[in-house]
Amino acid sequence: MDDRPEHNVACHCGAVRFRVRLTDGFNTARRCSCSFCRMRGAIAVSAQLDDIVFVQGAENLTLYQFNTGTAKHYFCRTCGIYTHHQRRSNPSQFGINVACIEGVSPFDFAEVTVLDGIAHPSDQGGGPRVAGVLRYEPAPH
Ligand SMILES: [Zn+2]
Repeated sequence: MDDRPEHNVACHCGAVRFRVRLTDGFNTARRCSCSFCRMRGAIAVSAQLDDIVFVQGAENLTLYQFNTGTAKHYFCRTCGIYTHHQRRSNPSQFGINVACIEGVSPFDFAEVTVLDGIAHPSDQGGGPRVAGVLRYEPAPH
């Protein structure tokens, strides 16, 4: 029996909806410094490929691939929001956009580890390296 919580995920317009169980809750929250992620700017958490169950809108996703084409970045063709991607570093996992998870804000995370995606482990050999930590400052009152 799987007692991990199931989260509802949706894009901005709501066309794409799925449920997901995460590998380790929100402890896997990461950003990445690669050429694509630095523009996208999302925080992602980890899920196994078969821990996503689509509710609707799988056909409304568009796929973007670049460089080696190993990573598969999915986004809604209507609102353009990135919902999830199949990882290059671990193709048995998806990264899930935390901002698309119901009840979760990317600003809930005081600190987020930034992976060194420019020096990608698949290009360099060795495990993922940490490029830094992104801190959110409390808003002034
Ligand atoms: Zn959408």
